[in-house]
Amino acid sequence: MRFQDTPELAEWRGTVRKFVDDNWRLAGVRDEDEGMEGPRDENRAKKWLDKLGANGWLAPAWPRKYGGADMSVLEQFVLSQELHEAGAPTSRQMLNLVGPTIMLHGTEEQKAEHLPPMLRGEVAWCQGFSEPGSGSDLASLQTRAVRDGDEYVVNGQKIWTSGAHRANWMFVLTRTDPNAPKHRGISYLLLDMKAPGVTVRPLINMANGHVFNEVFFEDVRVPVRNRIGEENRGWYVGTTTLDFERSNIARAITARKNVERLVSYAQARTAAGSAVRQTFRNEIADRAIETSICQLLSFVVISIQAKGGVPNMEASMCKMYGSELSQRIAGTKMHLAGMYGQERKASGLQDAHSINAAQEYMQTVPATIAAGTSEIQRNIIATRGLGLPRG
Ligand SMILES: Cc1cc2nc3c(=O)[nH]c(=O)nc-3n(C[C@H](O)[C@H](O)[C@H](O)COP(=O)(O)OP(=O)(O)OC[C@H]3O[C@@H](n4cnc5c(N)ncnc54)[C@H](O)[C@@H]3O)c2cc1C
Repeated sequence: MRFQDTPELAEWRGTVRKFVDDNWRLAGVRDEDEGMEGPRDENRAKKWLDKLGANGWLAPAWPRKYGGADMSVLEQFVLSQELHEAGAPTSRQMLNLVGPTIMLHGTEEQKAEHLPPMLRGEVAWCQGFSEPGSGSDLASLQTRAVRDGDEYVVNGQKIWTSGAHRANWMFVLTRTDPNAPKHRGISYLLLDMKAPGVTVRPLINMANGHVFNEVFFEDVRVPVRNRIGEENRGWYVGTTTLDFERSNIARAITARKNVERLVSYAQARTAAGSAVRQTFRNEIADRAIETSICQLLSFVVISIQAKGGVPNMEASMCKMYGSELSQRIAGTKMHLAGMYGQERKASGLQDAHSINAAQEYMQTVPATIAAGTSEIQRNIIATRGLGLPRG
């Protein structure tokens, strides 16, 4: 396997790196617009995303006429690597999920209405797929859409809807034919969150954050022109993913940076005269080895894509390994921090490295649930990948 860039990719990497240096790293130092950390960061991120969008780099795989950059798989990979290395934002909320779907399956009118404001960040979207009884077995979803002239009347409930409290639009899977086999009676609709009959209720997660919500629909009217693709073919529309993050190099880069922080933490403790036990050293060494494996799995996925293939078992391996590794790294940090890891703010007693260790661990818990649980990934690897019989 070759790990070096070709001369063309090396040149492209140089171009991206310079762009990131000029517009993200230096902008971070110079940006004095606001006094408070929050608004300044938001401004900085917004300006940066506008610049990415102007280059077509928010939707690098899309054709230029829709605001993309027509990039090859490997060019996208290099772009993604460099943006994540710099810690720069890479996308707008849900853009990578709904954008490619509209681009592939939408009409020209739907593309003209939804893609430009999405790329400019003028509208926020949320994903209405999961329901209380339908998560892993998504095709069993029950939210009904009944045709009434040139509208659908939607009734039902979604759950775990990230960002619904800030979203203008939802892309939602609904059941339009309850008598058809479950995958064949689903339609994909674009639903205006301000429509009468939509209720959003917050769900607070274990880290005390408001990320996701429950969303209820009571006789919500959705124009038929807001359906993407054919009626009852929504399952196949919904499984469209052209996310340029499929190789998940972001996870591998984050893992490596977190392991580097663990090493600094252990070194700082040693320098302060507090011994780092053999078991901790071994744990950190294990995390370093696992981080290299995570990176190699990303390379496997991207190599398959670059040759025009569709990674299946390999994508599941990458997702499962990377998400479980993020939890193991956060766990190692908690072990090192001990009781100080419970602290949210620096106090005189504690080591600055240990602050928030418990909070960080809690933030990694959803990684093995969202976008397909680890058990489901293992099922895919075992059955589709290794040809083992279903239970
Ligand atoms: C942070 C976060 C953000 C999310 N955002 C969104 C969003 O914006 N929009 C959205 O629609 N959804 C969202 N989800 C929901 C997510 O897609 C589901 O939580 C996920 O698909 C699992 O479904 P479930 O919660 O219903 O669990 P279930 O499917 O009920 O699973 C419960 C447990 O049973 C196991 N299990 C289920 N089936 C099998 C099987 N066949 N074999 C072995 N084990 C099995 C699972 O692995 C799991 O451990 C989000 C979830 C998280 C954690």
